[in-house]
Amino acid sequence: ARAQAMQVDHSPDVVYEDIGGLDEQIREVREAVEQPLVDAEQFREVGIEPPSGVLLHGPPGTGKTMLAKAVANETDATFIKMAGSELVRKFIGEGARLVRDLFELASEREPAIIFIDEIDAIAAKRTESKTSGDAEVQRTMMQLLSEMDGFEDRGEIRIIAATNRFDMLDRAILRPGRFDRLIEVPEPDTEGRERILEIHTKDLNLAEELDLAAIAAETEGFSGAELASLTTEAGMFAIRDGRTEVRMEDFEDAREKVTDEESTETGPIAFY
Ligand code: ATP
Repeated sequence: ARAQAMQVDHSPDVVYEDIGGLDEQIREVREAVEQPLVDAEQFREVGIEPPSGVLLHGPPGTGKTMLAKAVANETDATFIKMAGSELVRKFIGEGARLVRDLFELASEREPAIIFIDEIDAIAAKRTESKTSGDAEVQRTMMQLLSEMDGFEDRGEIRIIAATNRFDMLDRAILRPGRFDRLIEVPEPDTEGRERILEIHTKDLNLAEELDLAAIAAETEGFSGAELASLTTEAGMFAIRDGRTEVRMEDFEDAREKVTDEESTETGPIAFY
C-alpha cells in the first residue's frame, strides 16, 4: 500500500521548454528550488537559508505538477509524488507513518524533490473542512512540518506542495521555515494559451492556414490541461473525417465539444 501511495520517478521527462506561459513562475521555481540544490555553497557563503518549502497555488491543470517535475529533471533528482488525500488515513498514526516513509525514501534517493499535491487535504483551516478538524489529520500535518524542520541536516531534499484551494489553507503552514515561498500559477492569458498550443501541436500535422493565435483568442478560460485535450480532440476530428492534416475547423469542432462537456459536467477537471 505504501508503494502505491507514492509515485517515484527518477529525473522525470518534463523540461522547462514544455511549459507554456509560465516564464516568471519557472524563474521563481528555479531560484527557490533548483539554485539551492545545485549551488548550496553559494547560499552558505552569502549566509541565507534557502526557502524551506515552496507552495504552488492556482486552478487545476495549469502546470503545477509539470513545474515540479521539470525542476527534478533539471537537477537530476528523484521525483517523489504523493497526493494529500493519500495521507488522510483511517488508522491512527498511519498518515504520520506515510510522511516518515516519504522522507526516508527521499533521503535514500537524494537529490530528491518531494511533491505533495492537494496539500489542502491535510492542511485546511479547521473551520473549512471536516477532515482537517480530525485530530488524526492534524497529526499527519504536524509530522510533515516536523520533517521539514529537520531539513538542514537532510542535505539534498526539497519539498514542493500544490493546491487549487489556497483560500482554504491553514495559514500556520505558511510561516517562515514551513511553506515560506508562494508561487501563484494562474490560468493562462491569450499569449500563454498560444504558447501552450504551440507546445502541444509540435508533432501535429497542421494545415497551412492554421492560426494558433486565433485559437488562443477563442479559448478564454481554458487551462493548459484543457488545451492539451483540445489538441487531441482536434486530431480526432481530422481522423474521423479521413484526413491526416488538422484544420481550423477541427479545432472549432473540438472547442465546441470540450466546452459542451465542460458545461454538462460538474467540476472544472471533469472532462478528464
Ligand atoms: P492539478 O492541480 O489538477 O493537479 P496541475 O496544475 O498540476 O493540475 P499539470 O498536471 O501540471 O497540472 O498539467 C496537466 C497536463 O496539462 C500536463 O501534462 C500538460 O499536458 C498540460 N498542461 C498544463 N499546463 C500546461 C502548461 N502551462 N504548458 C503546457 N502544458 C500544460
